[in-house]
Amino acid sequence: MSRVAIVGGGFAGLAAAMILRREAPRLSVTLLDRNPAACYLPLLPDCIGRAIPPELLLYAYADASRRYGFDFWQRQVTRIDCPAGMVYAGDAAVPFDYLVCAAGMQPNFYGNRAAAEHAYCLATIDDARRLAAALAERTPVQVVVAGGGYTGVEVATAVWRLCRKRSPAVRVLMVERAAEILAALPPAASAYVRAHLRRLNIDVACGVSVAAADSRSVRLSDGRVYADALLVWTAGVQAAPCVDSLPGQKNQQGRVIVDDYLRCAPRCFVAGDAAVQTVGGVPLRMSVQAALTQGSVAARNIIAAHRNQPLRACRPRDLGWVVPMADNNGWGIALGIPVRGPAAVFLHYLMCLYRGRGGVGRALALAGAIAKG
Ligand SMILES: Cc1cc2nc3c(=O)[nH]c(=O)nc-3n(C[C@H](O)[C@H](O)[C@H](O)COP(=O)(O)OP(=O)(O)OC[C@H]3O[C@@H](n4cnc5c(N)ncnc54)[C@H](O)[C@@H]3O)c2cc1C
Repeated sequence: MSRVAIVGGGFAGLAAAMILRREAPRLSVTLLDRNPAACYLPLLPDCIGRAIPPELLLYAYADASRRYGFDFWQRQVTRIDCPAGMVYAGDAAVPFDYLVCAAGMQPNFYGNRAAAEHAYCLATIDDARRLAAALAERTPVQVVVAGGGYTGVEVATAVWRLCRKRSPAVRVLMVERAAEILAALPPAASAYVRAHLRRLNIDVACGVSVAAADSRSVRLSDGRVYADALLVWTAGVQAAPCVDSLPGQKNQQGRVIVDDYLRCAPRCFVAGDAAVQTVGGVPLRMSVQAALTQGSVAARNIIAAHRNQPLRACRPRDLGWVVPMADNNGWGIALGIPVRGPAAVFLHYLMCLYRGRGGVGRALALAGAIAKG
């Protein structure tokens, strides 16, 4: 029996595991993830701003493995040896005939050791718990959010929403090293978001970065010092370290540049954020939609390769995106049409619930928590 190893059980890895078990029951599938449960990342900011219980975002691999019939190992993968067909996780080794690496991304501090040591992040469920606990324990004068991308905007408005209820004197400042926030989006989107942040009294400083930080204070590159501050880091991401052991070219973030079939080597596929797939000369955006499609295509290409059939090129459809803000306003594009205001936020939550894992009960509980928050 041929063996498939899947590294990472996020959107791409779980999609691959489900398709493999459903469409090729004779392949054995082992999924490795360092955590016991998959986390629905797009709703993480709502654990802060809307006080959604973090447990509602989790889907236990034990449940998924029982339901779909794959093996699950809770392990931190340290190295992948494609030519030898081995995944190493500490002292354990898992042999494979086919691989899907879907290990996602982690925060990048760009060598800023003070930030790495003292900043809060929002990339995992534990990060959300830590940040929520820090804001419950302490009322800083200033919250500094480093990074003016999608996540930075979501986090800044989520902190604003939380503090508006509990401690309205807390100031929120977003710092962005580039000349504008949301620089990769249409100018109308960044102008709309910036105007909104102003209305919420969230300050924005562009062309500025975090120069130093400790557990209570933050110093910016323009010399400003906040003596009683809490730093949240959303300023960059990099591939999980085990991705570095895969063959093939990597981009600056350490993501693997894959071919149209998502391969980095024969029988080895990379999917989701860990992969850079270029369509029409443009690299695909890291998104849930791309990860789900790539996970499914990687699985189907493994099945095709196993049956000596031709592989299928991966062509994810970009249905759109939304920058949701916690004051129920947002800006986005759905099926090519710009959407803004509460309609954009409604669309965001609709997509989250539609793609939610773990069944109707969880979707209803989440919908209730979002509405209540
Ligand atoms: C706060 C936040 C908000 C977001 N909002 C949106 C949004 O609104 N819309 C949208 O489309 N996208 C959003 N994204 C991005 C989206 O979540 C990602 O594009 C998506 O999760 C990528 O899926 P993936 O399967 O590649 O990786 P992930 O979902 O990150 O899964 C990677 C998995 O690999 C595991 N892993 C990592 N390293 C190892 C290792 N060494 N050993 C074992 N396991 C490992 C991790 O535990 C994780 O389970 C958001 C992301 C964040 C952080």
